[in-house]
Amino acid sequence: MKISRRQLLKTVSFSALVIGITPRIAFSAPNALKNIRTGLQPGDKTRLVIEITNRPSYDISYGDKQLIITLSNTNGKSDIKPALASGTLINRITQIQDGTKLKIVANLSGLIDAIEKRQIMVLDPNGDNDYRLVIDFKRGTGVGILANSSSNTAKSTKTTDNNNTNTAKVKQHIIVIDAGHGGKDPGCIGKGGTQEKTIVLSVAKKLKSRLDANGYKTFLTRSNDTYLKLAERAEIAEKKHADLFISLHANANPSRNMKGFSIYTLSEKASDEEAQKLAESENAADKIDVDGFEQFSKDIRIALSALQQHAVAQLSEEYATGCAKSLNRASIDQQPGPAVRHAPFAVLRSTVPGALIELGHLSNKKEEKLLKSDEHQNKLVEAITKSVNSYDFDV
Ligand SMILES: [Zn+2]
Repeated sequence: MKISRRQLLKTVSFSALVIGITPRIAFSAPNALKNIRTGLQPGDKTRLVIEITNRPSYDISYGDKQLIITLSNTNGKSDIKPALASGTLINRITQIQDGTKLKIVANLSGLIDAIEKRQIMVLDPNGDNDYRLVIDFKRGTGVGILANSSSNTAKSTKTTDNNNTNTAKVKQHIIVIDAGHGGKDPGCIGKGGTQEKTIVLSVAKKLKSRLDANGYKTFLTRSNDTYLKLAERAEIAEKKHADLFISLHANANPSRNMKGFSIYTLSEKASDEEAQKLAESENAADKIDVDGFEQFSKDIRIALSALQQHAVAQLSEEYATGCAKSLNRASIDQQPGPAVRHAPFAVLRSTVPGALIELGHLSNKKEEKLLKSDEHQNKLVEAITKSVNSYDFDV
C-alpha cells in the first residue's frame, strides 16, 4: 500500500522516528553540512536554510514543538553554529549524527502545521552558495501533526510505480483536470471534422473516473461544452487547493505527418520554436472572448517570489518527466524531440504544479481516427493515471 510522504510525516512521532523513506536521489559520496541559518520572511514566515555540498536527500518529521530534518548520507560539523535570526519560530538548532544520517533538530517556540511540499525548495548552487534546502513555515495549530499523534506506527514507503492502482490513498490528493477549449472555442479541428474540445473532454472524463477509482479527489474545470477563460481554469486549481493540475489538449501541425503526444510545462521562454507557436495558439483561446484579448487580471504565478516560482517549476518538471516516461512505456505513438518541452502557456500560470499534455495530432489523419476511439483514449488515460501514481506528492 502506498502511503504519501506527507501522511507518513504526520503519523510518525519524534519518539518513533524510524522513517524508511526511499531517498529521491541517492549519492554515494557523502554530503557535508556547510551552514545552517534562519530568517524572517514577509507574512511572518520562518525560513530555515540548510546549506550542503551535494543535492540533499531528506525526510522531514515532527516532534514535540520540534521540526526534524533528516539528511541521508550526510556528515554534520560540530563547529557549525547556526545563524539564528530573531523573531522566527526557531529558537535552537542542534545536529545529531545518526550513523550516515544527519538530523537537524529545530526547536520551535510554537505550533506549526504539517509542512507541504510546496513549502520546501532545493536550490542549486549559485555564487557563494552551495546546494540549499529551504523550508518556509509559519505559526499554525498543529493541524496535520497533532491529528495523528496518537498513532506511532512507523511506516515505510517503498514507492513503486505500479501495483498501487486500486489502493485508496491515505491522504486524498487533489487533482484538477482541465479539458482545453470548449463552447465557442473548438480548439483545433481535424480533417475529418473532429474538434479538439470534444476529444479532450472525453479523455478528461475518463481520466477523472480512473483517478477517482485510484483514491484521488478530482475536479474538472469543465464537464460539458462550455467556454472558460484560461485564467479561470488556473483559478479553479487555486481555489480547490489542488496538488496537481493537468491540462489536456490535442494539437495540429501544418505537417500532416507529425503525430504523437507531447508534454509541456510553463516557462517564459519556449524550449523551441514549435513549442512557442503552440503556446501562442493555445493562449489564443482567450482572444475568442467577445471583449477581445484580456490581460490576466490575476497572473498568480508572476506574483510569486522567485523562490516559490522555482519550487512550482521544479515540481511541474518532475511530474512532466514522469508523465513522459509513463506515456513512453505505454507505447503510444510519440512525437520526435524532447519528451518534456517548455512554453509560456497561460493556463499553467498558477501556484499549482502541473503540465499541459497534447494528447496527439488531429492534423494527422490516422491519429485523428485513433484519438476518437475509446480504446486509444483509455490507453492514454491509463498512462496518465500511472504518471500520477508515480508522482511523489509530498516531501
Ligand atoms: Zn488546445
